[in-house]
Amino acid sequence: MSYKLFIPGPIAVSEKTLRAMAQPMIGHRSTDFVALYNFIQPRLQALMATKDPVYLSTSSAWGVMEGSLRNVVQRQVLNCMNGAFSDKWYDVARRDGKAATALKFEWGQPVDPAAVRTALAGGGYDAITLIHNETSCGCMSDLAAVMAVVREFPEVISIVDTVSSFSALPIPKDELGIDVLISGSQKALALPPGLSFLSVSERARARAAQTEGRGYYFDFVEFQKNHEAGMTPSTPVIPLIYALKSKLEDIEAEGLANRYARHARLNRTVREHVCGHGFKLFPKEGYGSVSLNCFANTRNIDLPALNKILKAKHQLVIDGGYGKLKGKTFRISNMGDETDETIAAMLRAFDAALAETPAAGATA
Ligand SMILES: *Cc1c(COP(=O)(O)O)cnc(C)c1O
Repeated sequence: MSYKLFIPGPIAVSEKTLRAMAQPMIGHRSTDFVALYNFIQPRLQALMATKDPVYLSTSSAWGVMEGSLRNVVQRQVLNCMNGAFSDKWYDVARRDGKAATALKFEWGQPVDPAAVRTALAGGGYDAITLIHNETSCGCMSDLAAVMAVVREFPEVISIVDTVSSFSALPIPKDELGIDVLISGSQKALALPPGLSFLSVSERARARAAQTEGRGYYFDFVEFQKNHEAGMTPSTPVIPLIYALKSKLEDIEAEGLANRYARHARLNRTVREHVCGHGFKLFPKEGYGSVSLNCFANTRNIDLPALNKILKAKHQLVIDGGYGKLKGKTFRISNMGDETDETIAAMLRAFDAALAETPAAGATA
């Protein structure tokens, strides 16, 4: 049975993208590959508004999220935490044997720039991790405000996860002073999972060159050396790179301003519609994500039952809450290739399914 994903990643992949993947293989040291890499490179740089290289990593985003810590943290990292992914990043830093400090906010509350300043002013930090768009609770922090604070501490290398916000709104890497910008394929770019991106500043590369224990697979120095030849350190996931090329062409055809406006409009449409049914947005007001909506289950409906109906009768799936928010919230993605028509159809299905959904516990 096939059904359409409205979960916040992986999301629906277009037929065009799937076809782009089904091309004959090329050698990853061939001139054809170098041409492919060099087609993609300036377009990814434009999307990130950066002059820095953008490396392609054959891994999910976690690969480069962990790898970045191993490249730049020598003394201590400050992990800003306000949801499942950012909480996990702190755990990962500790598993890597790094000295790490948790800067915690409630799930759904944004990262507070003033708290970041106080923490960094305590001294001893040479890196910070920050998730722009906490997908687990649909909370988008004010990246410009947090980065303005981070820039006050020139010894601190910033590692910013834009996995679920990249290409849904402008993220000007160089202007904000982001050292390491990370994203992945299966969120707003609407590609299958398995490819991630990281753009690394010169000073972050210099730090890496002086950092012990950074390993091989995610080594910034290896990425840079190969990047200069239009290649990746090891055999990359070539079908996904074909898909990325196709997607970058789509983005160019639509135009960035149109793409950003489309995401903002569809996000608002879903938010207003679902709130109209008596649900509330989960994250703090003014900090809702632009690529998904996370709603509090204020009507206490049976979310697994809702999803069962959506899947069986309407061939689509939303998310019933991440981790400790399971059953308490639900999330609907509007990122990628969605249009006014596809979102309207999803909302009609949501309405029909909601009308049949029992209260939580009613059938237990
Ligand atoms: C999905 C997601 C990740 C994890 O990505 P993987 O590709 O599963 O490694 C990390 N951070 C955020 C904000 C995400 O949305």
